[in-house]
Formats: sequence, C-alpha cells, structure tokens
Amino acid sequence: MPTARHILIVNSRSVHQPLFVIGAPHSGAGLIGRALKSAPGLHITIGQPSVLRVVYAFARRPSMYRGRTQAAATVIRDAFAQGWQVTPHSCLDCTRECRAAAGLAADAVGPCVELRGLERFGDASPDLIYCAEALTDAFPDARIVQVVRDGRDAVGGMLADSVVMSWFRPSFVNVDTEFPNPFFGIESADDLEIWPKLTPAGRCALRWRWSVRLAARLHRGLPADQLKTIRYEDLMSRPDDALDELSRFAGTKVPTAEIRNEARTSRRRARSRKSPGPGDRGTLTAQQTVEIEKVASEELRRLGYVLAHPPSTA
Ligand SMILES: [Zn+2]
Repeated sequence: MPTARHILIVNSRSVHQPLFVIGAPHSGAGLIGRALKSAPGLHITIGQPSVLRVVYAFARRPSMYRGRTQAAATVIRDAFAQGWQVTPHSCLDCTRECRAAAGLAADAVGPCVELRGLERFGDASPDLIYCAEALTDAFPDARIVQVVRDGRDAVGGMLADSVVMSWFRPSFVNVDTEFPNPFFGIESADDLEIWPKLTPAGRCALRWRWSVRLAARLHRGLPADQLKTIRYEDLMSRPDDALDELSRFAGTKVPTAEIRNEARTSRRRARSRKSPGPGDRGTLTAQQTVEIEKVASEELRRLGYVLAHPPSTA
C-alpha cells in the first residue's frame, strides 16, 4: 500500500531525508550522533523530551503500536515536529550530551544550532532504535545510520552503565506483560523461558542480539542509499575512511576531531593489553563471555566476530 506523502514543516523548512542514528546501547551511536550534531547545515537532536517520550513508549509498550502503522507514524512525526523546533531556548530541554555536542555550556539555554544555513534535521536520541521501523513509516525518505559493535564489548559497556542496568530492576521489567519484547530482546517463547535463568550479561546479550536482527530486517526493507551500517571497530581502526563514508551518506562534512581522538585512545588501550585477542574482553569475566557467546553466537559469527569459546560441534 503506498504511504501517503506528509510534508512536515519545521522552522519554515520542509523536512526531507531526515537522518537518524541507531544502535544497541554502547555500540557507538552516541559518538556518531555527537559528531553529526556539529556537522554544518544539519540539526541533530539528542534526547528532546517530546522524542524520548515516544521512544520509550515504543520501547516499553510496542503492543500499543503494533499493526497501527499510520497512527504510529503520526505520533512520531508530531514528536519530531516539536523536538526539531529551533528557538532561543530549544536545547534547554535536551540532554546534557546534546548541549555539550553543540558546544553549549551545561547551563547555557541554546539554541544548539544556527538557523542560518540549516537544511536538514535528524536525531540520535538514546534508544531510538526501538522505533526504527516506525521511523521509516513516518519518514519514507529517512536516512538511517546503524552502528554495530562486537556484542561482547557492547555488553561490557552496558554492564558498567548504571542507567542501562536500571532497566533490569524488577519494577521496570515487563517481560511478563509485553511479548514479544524488543527492548529486552525477547522474541520467542524460548527466549522468555531462558530469561529468568540469565545473568545480567546474558540479558544484555539478548538486547544486543535483537539489534543485530533488526539490522538484518532493515537491510532487507530499505535501499542502500537509505541505510548505512557503520562498524564501531572500523571507526576506531580506520576513522578517516569510516568518516568519509559517513559524510558521503549524510551529505555533509562530518567533523572528525572527537572520533579521531576516541580512536587514538582505543588503539592505545588495545596496545597496552597484555594478551590482546578475541578472548580478552577487557572488563568481562570468562564466564560472562561464555554466556554472551551462547546467547548470541549466530549473530556474532554472522557479523564476523571470532568466538572465544566456539560451541562444540559434538
Ligand atoms: Zn539539544
């Protein structure tokens, strides 16, 4: 069925080819979002309240929107129509990360972007991934940057992040009332059954696995000029090449300073490790690595990551 054309006007500009950055937590989507935010002509928001409200509604209660494509698209367009408005105070409600990426002081009121020369809009809010499929219904010409990273490193980052881990508190977990549950990576009855037995590492691995499966679905549904996958490891090992590709895809010059800096730090860290290799996961214990690889072995292998503990073929 053809999607009706909706023209969204923000600050007297019609929104075309909005750019969204998605990824599992700690995959590097935040880093890319911040870099894009300072690209010329582009207004990227990170954590506008109107957007976060919708993102978390989709993340927590996907059943509310399932099968209601047009209603979901309208909700999303409305949220961004509000979130993208540029006013003298427009970054005030954003996350601290958004203000910092815009070069604003923590207590500055904004705006986080120059209206002059502004041509395009985008968003890199945390957990935006949970409305990725609805985003393309809301904006059929959307450009999506998907960041993938070795699931073991992403899980390592998640385990050390108190905000991410707070979602696993019993008062937040809604796996019994919401099924399937993309936010917790629960897609099948089997997933639901193993969930109570998993440690936090295994539960984070389920969330990562879902993001990889989503990436595969998006690839099947979107033409190549609408979806760009950036691998975090490439960004760290060959930042200039990866950023060139990203700039071409985004149609703007992406500033490189922060990412190159991060890449240098990451290479230094890798060199100082005593026994670098697929078995050395930094902060993870061997047991955690085993559990993550068990939950997500197929997805890790499909992305070309070498398993430290391959399942026995016996
Ligand atoms: Zn902002």
